[in-house]
Amino acid sequence: AEHRLADYRPPAFLVDTVDLIFDLDPKATRVRATLALRRNPAHGDAAAPLVLDGEDLTLNAVAVDGVALDAAAYRLGEHGLVIADLPDACTLDTDVTIDPAGNTQLSGLYVSGGDFFTQCEAEGFRRITFFPDRPDVMARFSATLVADEARYPVLLSNGNPVDRGAMPDGQAWVKWVDPHPKPSYLFALVAGMLVSVHDEFITASGRTVALGIYVRQGDEDKVDHAMVCLKRSMRWDEEVFGLEYDLDIFNIAAVGDFNAGAMENKGLNIFNTALVLARPDTATDADYLRIDRVIAHEYFHNWTGDRVTCRDWFQLSLKEGLTVFRDQEYGADTTDASLSRIEDVLRLRGFQFREDGGPLAHPVRPPAYRKIDNFYTATVYEKGAEVVRMIRTIIGADAFRRGMDIYFATNDNTAATIEDFVGAMHEASGYDFTQFMRWYDQAGTPAVSFAGAYDAEARRYTLTLRQATAPTPGQAEKAPFVIPVALGLIGPDGQDLAGTIDGETVAGTRVVLLTEAAQSFVFTDVAAAPVPSLFRNFSAPIRLSGYDRAQLAMMAAHDSDGFNRWEAGHEYAVQVLLEAIAAHQRGAGFTLDDGLRDARAAALDQAAAAPALAARLLGLPGASTLADRMAVVDPDAIHAVLTAARRAIGGALQARFQAIYGQTAYDGAFAVDPASVGRRALRNACLAYIMAGDEAAGIALAQAQIAADTTMTESLTALALLVDTTSPARDEALAAFHARFQGDALVIDKFFAIQAMSSAPDTLARIEALTRHPDFDIRNPNRYRSLVLAFGYRNALWFHDASGAGYDFVARMTLAADQVNRSVAARGMEVFADWKRYDPARQDKMRAALDRIIAANDLSPNTREMAERVRHAD
Ligand code: ZN
Repeated sequence: AEHRLADYRPPAFLVDTVDLIFDLDPKATRVRATLALRRNPAHGDAAAPLVLDGEDLTLNAVAVDGVALDAAAYRLGEHGLVIADLPDACTLDTDVTIDPAGNTQLSGLYVSGGDFFTQCEAEGFRRITFFPDRPDVMARFSATLVADEARYPVLLSNGNPVDRGAMPDGQAWVKWVDPHPKPSYLFALVAGMLVSVHDEFITASGRTVALGIYVRQGDEDKVDHAMVCLKRSMRWDEEVFGLEYDLDIFNIAAVGDFNAGAMENKGLNIFNTALVLARPDTATDADYLRIDRVIAHEYFHNWTGDRVTCRDWFQLSLKEGLTVFRDQEYGADTTDASLSRIEDVLRLRGFQFREDGGPLAHPVRPPAYRKIDNFYTATVYEKGAEVVRMIRTIIGADAFRRGMDIYFATNDNTAATIEDFVGAMHEASGYDFTQFMRWYDQAGTPAVSFAGAYDAEARRYTLTLRQATAPTPGQAEKAPFVIPVALGLIGPDGQDLAGTIDGETVAGTRVVLLTEAAQSFVFTDVAAAPVPSLFRNFSAPIRLSGYDRAQLAMMAAHDSDGFNRWEAGHEYAVQVLLEAIAAHQRGAGFTLDDGLRDARAAALDQAAAAPALAARLLGLPGASTLADRMAVVDPDAIHAVLTAARRAIGGALQARFQAIYGQTAYDGAFAVDPASVGRRALRNACLAYIMAGDEAAGIALAQAQIAADTTMTESLTALALLVDTTSPARDEALAAFHARFQGDALVIDKFFAIQAMSSAPDTLARIEALTRHPDFDIRNPNRYRSLVLAFGYRNALWFHDASGAGYDFVARMTLAADQVNRSVAARGMEVFADWKRYDPARQDKMRAALDRIIAANDLSPNTREMAERVRHAD
């Protein structure tokens, strides 16, 4: 069944309170629920029946106002329970039994490592008890958890523990009450043999919040970082948005089996272990950064998500786009702002632009869905964040902050819409957002081009900008977007020139709004012919074209905007490599472009002063970036050219890479401060080029780097480089790594992932073998992702092997995974999304793989929706 935004109707009944009693047992947990129900006048039909969602529940009893109903008084179907002829207010009691140990979907209440956890967003609560499982029903919850005290000493839920007791049979119970009304998707329960680390946070107004992080025994030495991040996030939200935490307790629990990254349940966030646990020898610097962001993201949801939630799931970006924007701002404020923006934009382009350009394209607010789980996408999250950022760019930071205050004041404790958010921004700024709303409702990435004309005599510069957006599924015609263009005019000496527009003279960066398909902006009092530096700090999620290489080289050297300085060098490299790919396809050999080499040499000049930036500048555009820019993607040519370029640069600058590699050796201290992270990034970048230019030297250094056993950042990069070779050092290093980290699930995930991403010629045979490795478990989402999705997403060379074996591998694994976990299996269809961008032979093979999946009789609706969208859109 398809759900449509246009069909929204308020619920027939509201739930004021819900009191839950859980008798926790892995195979048969009994859940008793008492709901205080009240007819909702806004629904319109005063005789409407009560519709309760329910899935995989065994109903034991149901009663209204204390009177048991017999089977004739309700209708029990596959999707829930319907009760007609209810009074306007009543109390409903239900009693159900569920099977948490058999819940391999990991949605609702399930068992992981013998402990109990929940995941209720988006529609998991209906797998716990009968309930109007929709976010516009906000209720006050209590939860009493009863369990065997020896096996489940820790019993957690949302809010505060108000009472507890023991029973003669070895059972104990705890009652939790959450004072804040919330939708069912924010309910959480954790029960098990967990250890915890505690700290406290004093809020700006002086209240003490008890912080706890709950993990499995043996992991308690891996939570310090998460705790630091949590406290930093709490402070940041007070300082930047004036938002204080609103309960006395904030708990985080980590679970090894989890469909997503983490979940913002009120007062009890539940995290994938991968996004909590970190120790220098087991987690990379990238992991540390990601953990910081996700801890912040989930914490920030307390206001943007929990206090103000979503009216319906079409509004998902209301909380996710806004919260990603907030975690991005936190990242920019607490680390390097330009580098952090660069990483965020690379992520947007790598996932969202790709999504927006293919059959899975959908607006930030999708108009329809079959399974909402399939819409936790880069568009809803990352593009949604860009849309919020554009609002701030257009109305200015002060008005934006006032708009946030108005948003909370107006919508606190409600389930809101995107209109409510934009309305608050309008109220704060007076800006008319009518045209801007297209960013929420039109899919596709606008292509922007430019032309400049300088009239020396009149000292006038005319900049003409054009926008066009290609059709996307279901949207043939696109109206122009409002595009904020942050720009500067760079003079011949590399400095920003002053210029006057609309009576205002600005010397640095200014913002103009492109609202038409084509529009000219006239700047007067411009002293010389400028190079326009457009979309500084990536002021809009668009594709820009039009610079020539001389302009790019000059911007890469001089642009006053840190993002655009990197962007110019990156675009230069893309253009050079695309040309090399075309040459390769004609049978010509590779010649190293001087500018490409010189830019890497210039990055090395900055290595001592700014190691992290230098590492970023040393890199080359990735295979997916190049694929994105080709009319017909040729994965073999891309790989050949990237390999040749790395080898040529590694050869040309070998001595310098070796020298800097030597200077950046481990200094005996591990820290995640920017200087240390930068040093390691630089050292690893050098090692990769040393390896590319001189494999024997590289292998020896990589082996020594692993043997030094300093940090996971250094060990894993060295191992990954060895895994790209066929040298005997590869298997020795893999075996040693496995032996060293056996039993540490998150590190074993890395062991799988680096092999899945390998470019070595025997990769396909080796990943087949890995599916039979004793550590491979298709039921564990992290392990599945580290083998199958790492391969599909990040190994273009072998996924697209001309034999079709890579497609066949992902198709077979998807069908197998679909039997145990449909939401994880469905995501795998994304790797086929751009199948029409390949040559006919590959298209045939990808289409055949998709058809095989679609033909499976017992395919889940989740995977079916994704596979059909990918297969049939035009
Ligand atoms: Zn989120």
